[in-house]
Amino acid sequence: MDNCIFCKIAAKQIPSKTIFEDDDLIVFHDIRPAAPVHFLIVPKQHIPTLADCGEAEHALLGKMMTLAPKLAQEQGCGYVASGEGPGKGGFKAMFHIGPDGGQEVYHLHLHVIGGPHPWRGER
Ligand code: 5GP
Ligand code: ZN
Repeated sequence: MDNCIFCKIAAKQIPSKTIFEDDDLIVFHDIRPAAPVHFLIVPKQHIPTLADCGEAEHALLGKMMTLAPKLAQEQGCGYVASGEGPGKGGFKAMFHIGPDGGQEVYHLHLHVIGGPHPWRGER
């Protein structure tokens, strides 16, 4: 899609701090992090919002959702029920959908937001 910032990031026309990439997805740190860990899981295919997804996107969405805890663990904010050390506290995984959902970039992405109590703004 012309003029889509996440398509441009996926095509490497705009740099990003990429932490994972395969044929379907690119994952990079959010440029304005809302917490100590904040990255975005983004399909390479241009799909504007979650509301545009249907049966054809089931596998893609499943892949995005199951990648979230794996990468959160690598980034130090995974959830381990009985673990010690970094990455045991958990994280938020969020889609923003449409203007009332706070969506700014109309290319599907899953926010992964973690660190100690990110919802309280603690660092
Ligand atoms: P939305 O509100 O659409 O769900 O979130 C879009 C997110 O993309 C925001 O958190 C914003 O900081 C992030 N973002 C916007 N432009 C860029 C960019 O050029 N690079 C990166 N890494 N993140 C971006
Ligand atoms: Zn796009």
